[in-house]
Amino acid sequence: MTQTIAVIRGDGIGPEIMDATLQVLDALKLGLQYDFVEAGLAAYEKQGELLPAATLEAIHRHRVALKSPLTTPVGEGFSSINVELRKRFDLYANVRPAISFPNTKSRYENIDLITVRENTEGAYIGEGQNLTADGETATLTQKVTRRGSERIVRYAFDLARRVGRKKVTVVHKANILKSTSGLFLKVARQVAAEYPDIQCNEMIVDNTCMQLVMKPEQFDVIVTTNLFGDIISDLCAGLVGGLGLAPGANIGTEAAIFEAVHGSAPDIAGKGIANPVALLLGAVQMLEHLGKVEEAGRLRKAIVDTMQAKDNLTPDLGGTGTTQSFAQAIAARAAG
Ligand code: NAD
Repeated sequence: MTQTIAVIRGDGIGPEIMDATLQVLDALKLGLQYDFVEAGLAAYEKQGELLPAATLEAIHRHRVALKSPLTTPVGEGFSSINVELRKRFDLYANVRPAISFPNTKSRYENIDLITVRENTEGAYIGEGQNLTADGETATLTQKVTRRGSERIVRYAFDLARRVGRKKVTVVHKANILKSTSGLFLKVARQVAAEYPDIQCNEMIVDNTCMQLVMKPEQFDVIVTTNLFGDIISDLCAGLVGGLGLAPGANIGTEAAIFEAVHGSAPDIAGKGIANPVALLLGAVQMLEHLGKVEEAGRLRKAIVDTMQAKDNLTPDLGGTGTTQSFAQAIAARAAG
């Protein structure tokens, strides 16, 4: 059956890296169809809205979207488009792989891990934020539910099974945050018992940070609550050379949206030198989500081999290639 995906070309370097990514996807001959829709500054300038109804409808219909970075105009009244998408489609799982690539300036060489962050609960629910009138005391409400914990942990274990991962590490702070982190850990243990084929261990968040820096190769899949996941996923991106090579997936009950973690890079937009790898890795995640695990592996290998060969690397990776020539080099390897 032909799969159609919603495609948002985005702002700044967005269109350049999206065109490059689609060129590589076409080389895999998957028969994917693209439904191009707009969001962000491009949509605002043409349609007067940052997130037009037609875009939401297309994401809803196809249930899968590949999205370039968007520019949220600065000023009153513009809320984050990414937060809006998260709410609309109940995008509860933020999935961020961190992989060591050859020929990058990073401290480690053997990292291949995925952080699965709960995206809708915890400290980020925006409730109970209070500062007393004297400005001396601030409070906020954290919320963890059995349902929210169960679905994120289940997502992590199912992902591990689907893409052949061996171990899931549950990261928590149940020794201090006894109610919220305690519930998360309790539910995680119950879910883990249903997956005897996947090894499971538990780790307190502060120790996890130290272990990630000292011995990152011990991790495979990490699952955790919202705030810890936010921090850990950026820490992991830093371990493998920064946001330029970091993709992210936002998985929900209504839809799944795949993207690069970096922004629209207005400083290099239109110059044809943006690195397409983060978005390409978002496409790898998308193919895995669609069950096309073999093709996802082929694409990932094509990226690694191209970087290993230093073939047309873009300037941020120390090369003199362009977005187009780098993508062509990857496409040639992906085609086999
Ligand atoms: P940025 O990630 O766009 O840029 C930071 C630096 O990294 C810049 O020097 C840029 O040139 C470089 N860079 C980023 N991606 C690159 C790539 N693929 N290849 C080579 N170099 C790259 O961050 P910023 O400047 O803080 O944000 C710019 C805009 O992007 C803002 O409007 C912000 O709101 C938006 N943004 C969007 C998203 C998203 O849609 N997911 C995420 C973050 C920022």
